[in-house]
Amino acid sequence: MTTLMEKAHAGVVTSEIKRVAASEEVNAETVRKLLADGFLVIPKNINSKSEPIGIGKLMRTKINANVGTSRDNVDIETEVEKARTAEKYGADTIMDLSTGGDLDLIRRRIMDAVSIPVGSVPIYQAAGESIGNMSSDDMFNAVRKHANDGIDFVTVHAGVTQSSFERLKRSDRILDVVSRGGAFTISWMKHNCMENPFYSEYDYLLEMAREYELTLSLGDGMRPGCINDASDRAKFEEFIILGELVKRAREAGVQTLVEGPGHVPIDEIGLSVTAMKHLTGNAPLYLLGPLVTDIAPGYDHITAAMGGAVAGMHGADFLCMTTPSEHLALPDVADIREGTIVTRIAAHAADLTKEGVREKAREADRRMAVARRELNWNRQFGCAIDSEKAKMIHARSRNADTCSMCGELCSIKMMREVMKK
Ligand code: SF4
Repeated sequence: MTTLMEKAHAGVVTSEIKRVAASEEVNAETVRKLLADGFLVIPKNINSKSEPIGIGKLMRTKINANVGTSRDNVDIETEVEKARTAEKYGADTIMDLSTGGDLDLIRRRIMDAVSIPVGSVPIYQAAGESIGNMSSDDMFNAVRKHANDGIDFVTVHAGVTQSSFERLKRSDRILDVVSRGGAFTISWMKHNCMENPFYSEYDYLLEMAREYELTLSLGDGMRPGCINDASDRAKFEEFIILGELVKRAREAGVQTLVEGPGHVPIDEIGLSVTAMKHLTGNAPLYLLGPLVTDIAPGYDHITAAMGGAVAGMHGADFLCMTTPSEHLALPDVADIREGTIVTRIAAHAADLTKEGVREKAREADRRMAVARRELNWNRQFGCAIDSEKAKMIHARSRNADTCSMCGELCSIKMMREVMKK
């Protein structure tokens, strides 16, 4: 099978490329070239019915929403509702991170419920009840099962290797490894005294990815889980390995994303993003957060959005939603709504600064400013990222033209009179 990337290399402008070009208002030839070079991905499994989206250079910053059960909390209908809620409030992709219940059924129900691309972490299923019993075949079979179902992109922690583990052991981290897939992989490696199969048999993984047009999201198993652990050698060792894996994937015609941290102080985000982009050949960068402080549980959707906006400004392409429940509990539907909207705000704030999308993003802000000047509340609600919340809060104001913040002392109203020509 010729992959999307190989077709792009051969100069073919496929229907997926045309659809991304149309939705982003970018020339199709430019999208083709970026895809061929690996600077942009269109995650679209051959068995998927999802609408193609572009993630990467010259594209609007995309956001992902995580849903999925835990072993303590299995309710398929709620997970389906979370996925629909995330799509409704602007998620560009969904990841099913389920670890409890009938994982095949949950994954298929979520894929059926949304029209946007869906990703997964197959090792969660491969691990089953016990990491000790998991074989390398279980790991690859889980990837194949998800790919066969039509999953558009999978996280594989192929950069967690004996060498990055050695580096971790020599670090002075507080939280060691907080990536669930990273922890599974290291546990397996230690238990079996073997190299990570996703690394040692990476060519086999690439063959599978080619077969299904599966985009690989190279996971950051060594991502820092607290500010103390940010930007250390273990993380950068993994990024050097991920850069090599991106290169091999490109040579095999397989699309790759690279995942990044985690928890990073604001002043290190620019350095971190620039280094990650450099080490991975400018592969599209997918970030969780980064959260800019550890001490705001209950508000980690906000700490993540602060970091996400800064990371986006420096070149991150894809932001993973964080919810108010982060570090505390499995998110509920309301948390997913809040997390999705806050992450969209971060992505838009980044887009106001980004090459290729800046002008379109600024036009949205300009429309809001004009509606504010005209005290046109309905148009303001129409311009708002969360119009429902804006309407609900404004309903507390009794005055028809101004709002109750300043009432009759509304400076906009006053200045409209003063500036009347
Ligand atoms: S009343 Fe104050 S806050 Fe409300 S629209 Fe006028 S200037 Fe803005």
